[in-house]
Amino acid sequence: MIRTRFAPSPTGYLHIGGARTALYSWLHTRRHGGRFVLRIEDTDRERSTPEAVNAILEGMSWLGLDYDEGPFYQTERFERYHEHLQHLLESGQAYYCYCTRERLERVRAEQQERKEKPRYDGRCRDLSGPPSDEVSDEPVVRFRTPLEGHVVINDGIRGKVKFDNSELDDLIIARSDGSPTYNFTVVIDDLEMGVTDVIRGDDHLNNTPRQVHLYHALGVEAPRFAHVPMILGEDGKRLSKRHGSVSVLQYRDEGYLPEALLNYLVRLGWSHGDQEVFSVDELIQLFDINDVNHSASTFNPSKLLWLNQQHIMGSDPAHIARHVAPFLSERGADPVSGPPLEEVVRAQQERAKTLVEMADNSLFFYKSPDSYDEKAAKKNLTADTAAILEHCAHCFAGLPSWDRESIHGVVNESAQTFEVKMGKVAQPLRVAVTGTTVSPPIDVTLELLGRDEVVSRVNAAVE
Ligand code: GLU
Repeated sequence: MIRTRFAPSPTGYLHIGGARTALYSWLHTRRHGGRFVLRIEDTDRERSTPEAVNAILEGMSWLGLDYDEGPFYQTERFERYHEHLQHLLESGQAYYCYCTRERLERVRAEQQERKEKPRYDGRCRDLSGPPSDEVSDEPVVRFRTPLEGHVVINDGIRGKVKFDNSELDDLIIARSDGSPTYNFTVVIDDLEMGVTDVIRGDDHLNNTPRQVHLYHALGVEAPRFAHVPMILGEDGKRLSKRHGSVSVLQYRDEGYLPEALLNYLVRLGWSHGDQEVFSVDELIQLFDINDVNHSASTFNPSKLLWLNQQHIMGSDPAHIARHVAPFLSERGADPVSGPPLEEVVRAQQERAKTLVEMADNSLFFYKSPDSYDEKAAKKNLTADTAAILEHCAHCFAGLPSWDRESIHGVVNESAQTFEVKMGKVAQPLRVAVTGTTVSPPIDVTLELLGRDEVVSRVNAAVE
């Protein structure tokens, strides 16, 4: 059975790149009926924070990337790392290195002078005890990397990648305070958690041959690897805060639907013909990690916005209503104190790019406008229109039934009576009830708002 994992370091918010890596792992697992593990790599105690852990968990949950096991925390697994470390030391596959910082720096400087690639020179590799001079009191533990030969990684995205062992250092697997290092903990965890497929950013590609050697030393085959290329900003530089919002939760707060962000993220590096809009279920059917692009992709916020709009238009109104309700509450409106939100969404679905925009433009359904847009009022709430509005309010109050046809009938009749175009009736009505010139068609808007509210707002506008 396939088992994948997402293994973020909690040193900041969940960003776009991390979320895409998590999504690819999650899709790969879900497609193959496997299990998805969440592991928090929090061994860097100085940079890891509980806020960052929360932001990761919240981001995953908002995106709907559910995990079958975890979250596991590396800081709770030190005993496991220690046990494996002892085993490698006892079997001679790892050794204590007593070199002082000064010695290592000197060796490095000499290598640089000879134009050689700086690497550990292996002084402590074959000693049976501490060397006689330049001995550090707090030795580190190094892994004995093979000196010759090579490692070939059959990467699911990049194909075969070859590394010469002569290029690899004897990796430090435990620091002088005994704490294990990243390359060691990741291997122990992936091994013990039964991970079959490691999908991660290609910034880790150079670590992979070292990790493969560690697996072999532990007597097991390495998992399959797939290294996902990075995401660039529109200026060709690695995506970062400079390029705008890069935090997943920020997109939530800006009114994006989680499925739109997922759709956008998957397309950054993967495609299926020329299809642009995908549901999550379709992605689970279609996504193949082996089809991910080899080259970096460019983040394009306007395409994300376009996809958000497509998902808003194409979704079930009840679903959108659940997402838009919190934005209305945030703006001081009570989403159950007016027309059914689902109906409001149905009227607004075609005209909003984000949920924030939809909430802003729907606020008037739940809250009387505090004021009228100045320009709109100047043009539409005049002495001339007051008579039209009063007439409309009077007719509305006397309608035998409150539905869009009857409302349309009143607007039409008023236009004829006052010898103006329909727009000259509809627009003053719109400003009177919404405070602005933007709303769904006037008959739909007024029907939803309800007769009493309409009559009272129109009367208030002519006072
Ligand atoms: N914790 C590492 C990171 O956030 C990922 C390690 C891995 O996926 O192997 O970059």
